[in-house]
Amino acid sequence: MARFALHSAVFVVLTILTQIGGIAWLGALLFRRRWLAFAVIYLGLLVSATLLAPYFGRVQLSCGGNSVLKVQSWIYCLTNRTYVRPELKEVLGELANAVDARYPGTQTLVLDAGFPFFNGIPLLPHLSHDDGKKVDIAFYYQRDGAYERGAVRSPIGYFAFEQGSSNCQPTFPTLRWNFDMLQPLWGQLELEPGRTAAAVHWLADDGRVEKIFLEPHLQDRLGLRLSKVRFQGCFAARHDDHIHIQIR
Ligand SMILES: [Zn+2]
Repeated sequence: MARFALHSAVFVVLTILTQIGGIAWLGALLFRRRWLAFAVIYLGLLVSATLLAPYFGRVQLSCGGNSVLKVQSWIYCLTNRTYVRPELKEVLGELANAVDARYPGTQTLVLDAGFPFFNGIPLLPHLSHDDGKKVDIAFYYQRDGAYERGAVRSPIGYFAFEQGSSNCQPTFPTLRWNFDMLQPLWGQLELEPGRTAAAVHWLADDGRVEKIFLEPHLQDRLGLRLSKVRFQGCFAARHDDHIHIQIR
């Protein structure tokens, strides 16, 4: 019974994190060398997902190379979280080219996107990332006033918050995590305002983009009080460590 509960818990956690990991775990239970079997089945499913995703209206964002648009960390690729609708991939590619054209040498980094299969399954902890129309992009950063290509402050791009007043009272339950203990650990990079504001302006001007989430204190700091740029509310994740965009 305990064993069943353990395997059920592993199945649920892996499914929540990667969509395909739970199935790989069930398959691996049939083999004596379970971890090796899990790795082989998981990688097989990961590759299969790239081939099957178009049948579900999704495409994978590029996980390799060093072009103007890049998934920030291999972790997102390995956990199967880099899928979007083809229109959103186009928007991201055009955005990256536009920022690079204005500020040559710029690289735009993608964080969490979505899973390859089915609508309505959220990519936790992002409740809205459930249909391939939403994606998060990293802020652009600088050190001593010089832009740092491909750099972010935390290892996965999230949770390095720009501090400012939000008027949100601490409540529970909430997805608005502050991670105060982590903040001193992050790199001493500063937000690069030119590229970050230019990216948001480009997105706000694009007819395919429906909404952009950015914390109000950053909207003020960067001069981005635009109709499509919204506050996500006090119960959703903070948006002063990344930009959330969604298309129509
Ligand atoms: Zn998001």
